[in-house]
Amino acid sequence: MKVSIYSNDGESSSKVSRELYNAINKSKVLKLDSFNPEIVISVGGDGTLLSAFHHYGDLISKIRFVGIHTGHLGFYTDWRDSEVSQLINSLEHDNGQSVSYPLLDIQVDYSDNGESDQLFALNESTLKKSNGTMVAKMYIKDQLFENFRGDGLCISTPTGSTAYNKSFGGAIISPKFDAIQIAEMASINNRVFRTLGSPVIIPPTQWVTLVPSASKYNILTCDQLMVLDRPIKSISYRISDKRIYFAKYRHTNFWQRVSNSFIGDKTDD
Ligand code: NAP
Repeated sequence: MKVSIYSNDGESSSKVSRELYNAINKSKVLKLDSFNPEIVISVGGDGTLLSAFHHYGDLISKIRFVGIHTGHLGFYTDWRDSEVSQLINSLEHDNGQSVSYPLLDIQVDYSDNGESDQLFALNESTLKKSNGTMVAKMYIKDQLFENFRGDGLCISTPTGSTAYNKSFGGAIISPKFDAIQIAEMASINNRVFRTLGSPVIIPPTQWVTLVPSASKYNILTCDQLMVLDRPIKSISYRISDKRIYFAKYRHTNFWQRVSNSFIGDKTDD
């Protein structure tokens, strides 16, 4: 099986990567291949896993990810840095088991030369403005829903609902739902300007379009990536027909993962 190691450059991640390289080189079953891997082992935290996802974006339907966390939150990462040999053993006995999660499909139309881009996000995409209030019309299924004014809007996947979305009071959505969530960032609400004021969750048959009123100075983010310098005409968001796959050698229930990440130690009484 062809395996790639995608690591951040922290000290503990580099140490884990060296252990992985040595173990894979000794293995009769595993082979290092960073160009056309079947399994990508991300070593770091969720930020590293997001980078690995974008790095291997073109191969996303063919690969499965495994995450080792090295002292970070590690929401997406099931393995600890002390578990390299257990992970190698699971890889050597792999039988293709996987779990998949929905992705966000982002269609951006630029206003400078009629070009467009299709992007994908694992966590979320946001639209903000670098100088002042972000103003945009928000459409759901091509029907005008509201005129937004505020810091910005955050459109997230279910697994991204625990990330940036959570900081804006968005709901946590189980990834068993193919849904996208739109959360407001500091909207302006008074007699003159009005937004819904609560997060909106839409099903896979529907889509959301944002049309910013000023095409310049808008900042579009896609996970940790940014589109800064191109005037945006409109952005449409929907659930992608592609998904991300993780090798499922051990199962951590989603709600247990949420509880471990955000609540921590608990007592029953
Ligand atoms: P970062 O600012 O260095 O780290 C953001 C934090 O979010 C890290 O603790 C990261 O975990 C955690 N995280 C990432 N994805 C998560 C998920 N799906 N569920 C729960 N926590 C998650 O940024 P980064 O490492 O480059 O990651 C980019 C992501 O950061 C963005 O996609 C966005 O969701 C998030 N972000 C959040 C805020 C906020 O909450 N105010 C602001 C900016 C960006 P690790 O420690 O394991 O890496």
